[in-house]
Amino acid sequence: MTDERPPVRLRPEIAALPAYRQGRTAASDGFKLSSNENPFDPLTGILEAIAAAVDINRYPDATARELREKLAPRFGVGVDEVHVGAGSVSLLSQFINAAAGPGDEVLYSWRSFEAYPGLVTVSGARSVTVPNLPDGRHDLPAMAAAVTDRTRVVLVCSPNNPTGGVVTAEEFSAFMAAVPADLLVLLDEAYAEFVRDDAAVEGHALVGMYPNLVILRTFSKAWGLAGLRLGYAIGPERVLDAARAAAIPLSVTGPAQAAGAAALDHEAELVARVEHIVARRTEVRDALLEAGLPVMESQGNFVWLPLAADAEFAADVLNDHGLVTRAFPGDGVRVSIGEAESVAKLKQAAVDIVENLPTRPQSSRID
Ligand SMILES: *Cc1c(COP(=O)(O)O)cnc(C)c1O
Repeated sequence: MTDERPPVRLRPEIAALPAYRQGRTAASDGFKLSSNENPFDPLTGILEAIAAAVDINRYPDATARELREKLAPRFGVGVDEVHVGAGSVSLLSQFINAAAGPGDEVLYSWRSFEAYPGLVTVSGARSVTVPNLPDGRHDLPAMAAAVTDRTRVVLVCSPNNPTGGVVTAEEFSAFMAAVPADLLVLLDEAYAEFVRDDAAVEGHALVGMYPNLVILRTFSKAWGLAGLRLGYAIGPERVLDAARAAAIPLSVTGPAQAAGAAALDHEAELVARVEHIVARRTEVRDALLEAGLPVMESQGNFVWLPLAADAEFAADVLNDHGLVTRAFPGDGVRVSIGEAESVAKLKQAAVDIVENLPTRPQSSRID
């Protein structure tokens, strides 16, 4: 039977958006390398802090004050220059909504974080994208040239998800000098802890230097708390106040706040884990290159294979080997650095891909 009644009226640009699709889960003997998660089990001390946050019949502290008090001195700022959100995705949404709406433009490099286009569309603003450089990094001079009088937010992702390249400190300061001082720049540093390139921009070093710069960090990747949803912003109080005003109140839960504080107390153990992931990143990249696959230089907890037309084929072969990865058809495959045991499987899968590749890797586009 067909329903004759007219469908509910929705904003057409929202109805056209694909609903969020989560990466497939891996088989019991496989590995989930599709969401850049931390492969290590949560630390006991953090689990204890979560278990102790028992007053869940009460609303949490809306301002996450205790956590902000721990974060502020790490960046040499006051507590009101720190803003905590339910993951840095929700912070991105708050800042975009605070600064941009219908008729405005939000500028970013592409390909970059999958969440950006949808967040911009929901705000009512329009996405303006500038293609990545051939090495997968942002083309900041081209981005500065793409700023118009309608641009309200620029998203700079370093290291860039999914290509892995960084913006250098030099490129970033030239960019900040080139764009208007009243244009909000969000430096998305979700993978900052994995960076080992001395030339890379470091948000930490720029705090207080620009009235229009906000730095976004997350507990989801290096700190291993993806499931609890916790991120934070460092920036000028007035700009953070606007994000606070655009936030859904009380969305950062008490157990998440407690876990974040406990994670900071266990920093040394977590940093040691990050070192393992960084070493494994080199091992994985070298192995994939040796097998004959194209792999970009990455400063994140993932590597990018610019396989162009062969991306889906490669992801299917990886899947057959029990490795769930993230394919962007026609573009590339992103492989998260996961458990130590996943590396041997990756090496086998890489050989299998190269032996059966429909087109030769040398012919792949790198954009
Ligand atoms: C993973 C990621 C985030 C962080 O997401 P959370 O909401 O904090 O889990 C933000 N930006 C980029 C580029 C990411 O890859």
